[in-house]
Amino acid sequence: MADPKGFLTHDRELPARRPVDVRIRDWREVYEDFPAPKLTKQAARCMDCGIPFCHNGCPLGNLIPEWNDLVYRHDWREAIERLHATNNFPEFTGRLCPAPCEAACVLGINSDPVAIKRVEVEIIDHAFTEGWVTPQPPTNRTGKKVAVVGSGPAGLAAAQQLTRAGHDVVVFERADAIGGLLRYGIPEFKMEKRHIDRRLDQMRAEGTEFRTSVNVGVDITAAQLREEFDAVVLSGGATAWRDLPVAGRDLKGVYQAMEYLPPANKDFEDSPINARGKHVVVIGGGDTGADCIGTAIRQGAASVTQLEIMPQPPAGRPGSQPWPTFPILFKMESAHEELSDGDGDRVYAVSTTEFTGDAEGNVRALRLVEVEGPQTGFKPIPGTEREIPAELVTLSMGFLGPEKGALLQDLGVEYDARGNVARDKTYMTNVDGVFVAGDMGRGQSLIVWAIAEGRAAASGVDRFLTGETALPYPILPTARPLV
Ligand SMILES: Cc1cc2nc3c(=O)[nH]c(=O)nc-3n(C[C@H](O)[C@H](O)[C@H](O)COP(=O)(O)OP(=O)(O)OC[C@H]3O[C@@H](n4cnc5c(N)ncnc54)[C@H](O)[C@@H]3O)c2cc1C
Ligand code: SF4
Repeated sequence: MADPKGFLTHDRELPARRPVDVRIRDWREVYEDFPAPKLTKQAARCMDCGIPFCHNGCPLGNLIPEWNDLVYRHDWREAIERLHATNNFPEFTGRLCPAPCEAACVLGINSDPVAIKRVEVEIIDHAFTEGWVTPQPPTNRTGKKVAVVGSGPAGLAAAQQLTRAGHDVVVFERADAIGGLLRYGIPEFKMEKRHIDRRLDQMRAEGTEFRTSVNVGVDITAAQLREEFDAVVLSGGATAWRDLPVAGRDLKGVYQAMEYLPPANKDFEDSPINARGKHVVVIGGGDTGADCIGTAIRQGAASVTQLEIMPQPPAGRPGSQPWPTFPILFKMESAHEELSDGDGDRVYAVSTTEFTGDAEGNVRALRLVEVEGPQTGFKPIPGTEREIPAELVTLSMGFLGPEKGALLQDLGVEYDARGNVARDKTYMTNVDGVFVAGDMGRGQSLIVWAIAEGRAAASGVDRFLTGETALPYPILPTARPLV
């Protein structure tokens, strides 16, 4: 145990965010550096619990008390070994994960939880700085070929595990760069893309091959893929978005979040879909919506308003979501702080009824109505209709599952009751030798689950190809968050 009294003597502390008026003038990550002595105190708060519930909260089974202790003792080298033992990409989760481990931390029962995510990101950043993140090429080669379709965190985790196990792995990506939603969904101010690039350098040096701008199922057929490769991992994500079929939906200026964010991630200064000088409305109160807010603000929007159909969640845990579940709470993400009116520009319990436009077919306004809670099916409240200016609208209302395009059709995969690609407990679909990992099998989820699925699917593939495996299997495909 790091410090037997650490949880009594130190309060939880996180790095400060850069001042709003400074950070909205650039695209860099929002957090200031966190001095080493402060981090030591945060690691010292860990109680090294007999039953560390943080393990249960994390689908990767991260060895959290071990690395808290190692950081407290300044044994950074061993800390990164223990962190990499369960997580291929802590630089992604350490920056982007909503940290179900912290929601499950035992200290959180009657105090603030350990700042686990901050300790994680400092360990991996330190390791990169020291040059300890080096390629780990396989010592033996199996001669088996594996295709990974989709280069998000699930595909990358599966590819790294399988390459290290000695297989020849090719990752196909239809976009022009590798990374999936890490690359073109999540904005630079949440995670700078250089973190993806340096990890890809390591993977290339280990022997993983990457082919971009290849839409599998179109540019290379399912039959060709099966002929060339001994096994296939499908990790194409849950990219079919939910739409808003109201009057005026086809006006110019109404976009899906994943139409708006990718060009902004490619060209920070001059994206072709630009919020500069416009009144922006973001429909959907979740994290994707927050990413649209921060992007629109950096592009110079005249105003940004976020609409959410659900009522405003509570600030603290309600009785219905006790420890160690992952609660749905009112969050003040960095992007929300950047709204001109703080949280006043976040409007809850409203539903959009119509978009109206000008003579050129451009959206100009949005009509909304206040609604009762989900129990009544979001019944409109009479007399509450109103109109707000809207010159650019982004729809961030979630995703429905994988796109059922040529690839999945031609392979002949089956779907589960929720429309995701079905798999057995080795992550294999109904098609022999074709596996599925990440959002494509689980539905819209989180990076940490995608990495866990990629690792687990790799063990299934390895066993399929060689008859045995020493690769870890962190989660069953049926595992779900603690809710
Ligand atoms: C805007 C946004 C922000 C998010 N922010 C967070 C966050 O902060 N923290 C968090 O934990 N989660 C976040 N998420 C969720 C998280 O990004 C996903 O759960 C995760 O990326 C899923 O990983 P994946 O590997 O399954 O798929 P994805 O990351 O979706 O990657 C799938 C890839 O497959 C490619 N592909 C699909 N079909 C084909 C094909 N036929 N041929 C070739 N390539 C193909 C796609 O182009 C894509 O690049 C966010 C999601 C969105 C949309
Ligand atoms: S639950 Fe919290 S206090 Fe206990 S071991 Fe995990 S991080 Fe440390």
